[in-house]
Amino acid sequence: MAERIDGKAVAADVVEKVKVAADALRDKTGTQTGLAVVIVGEDPASQVYVASKGRMAKQCGFHSEEHKLPEDTSEDDLVALVEKLNADPAIHGILVQLPLPGHIDEGRIIQTIAADKDVDGFHFINVGKLGTGETGTAFVPCTPAGSMLLIERALGRDLSGKTAVVVGRSNIVGKPMFNLLLAANATVTVAHSRTADLPALCRTADILVAAVGRPQMIKGDWVKPGAVVIDVGINRIPAPERGEGKTRLVGDVDYDEAEAAAGAITPVPGGVGPMTIAMLMANAVTSAYRVNGLEPPAF
Ligand code: NAP
Repeated sequence: MAERIDGKAVAADVVEKVKVAADALRDKTGTQTGLAVVIVGEDPASQVYVASKGRMAKQCGFHSEEHKLPEDTSEDDLVALVEKLNADPAIHGILVQLPLPGHIDEGRIIQTIAADKDVDGFHFINVGKLGTGETGTAFVPCTPAGSMLLIERALGRDLSGKTAVVVGRSNIVGKPMFNLLLAANATVTVAHSRTADLPALCRTADILVAAVGRPQMIKGDWVKPGAVVIDVGINRIPAPERGEGKTRLVGDVDYDEAEAAAGAITPVPGGVGPMTIAMLMANAVTSAYRVNGLEPPAF
């Protein structure tokens, strides 16, 4: 049976380190780490994410700002707010919650965020830095960064000689995951919807990362015995066994099947999910250290 990788516990450990780092920075320089989260519209899932980011920021001892804008906010008004936050020395990290309403060009907004406050790691400068190995000054997107930390805890920092397969090639998860695994010396293949014989490819992986968005797609016999399986997927499926109209969350991996083959595996929920928000806090305090010309701690 696979070891169950406890993302909640690792995330709590990261958050504790962030808090200690934020306190130490304030004692040393008087700087309180500042995180601004911007949300446009009433999307219920986004509201929940933003509220929990705000709560976590306060728990870390940050100055936390939530900017809630109405659905009909114009693109120019949103750009103006981001520019104001860019210029505000009390703010070290800016996160604009996605998705934005359809009339707003997400790309323009992301590229308006100052690269050195882009704690989501989506700005071209941060994407380019990650791609060229400049991780010392880049912001790495939070979900892949959190996934990588879970892999490190299972296998150590150096993945020399290991093969990794990442299923999914999104800019938010799959591509940065590729870069992080490559930087750690793994031999990496990125698969996607046009990949031939995905089960056979997955079976070659010492490290299998699933970021697809298809419930329980990856079956037990796709998993190489002893592999480390990181399930990024979050999918809501009907759960009639819990009562009429009830639902539950599952990953992209069929957990019950895969845990029989894997060496270690993340559950959903409680695996990668909690890591994302913890790494956002880590990126924010990292930004505040950099502004003060100090080396940020490792998380
Ligand atoms: P996305 O942008 O929709 O990308 C999905 C990727 O999966 C695409 O590259 C797609 O291939 C590939 N794919 C789709 N069907 C496939 C198939 N049958 N076989 C192989 N590949 C297939 O999704 P995302 O934003 O990366 O998110 C992926 C999952 O992670 C979702 O469940 C999402 O909810 C979850 N997620 C979780 C967190 C977290 O905090 N834990 C954060 C972000 C995302 P093509 O490129 O060829 O279309």
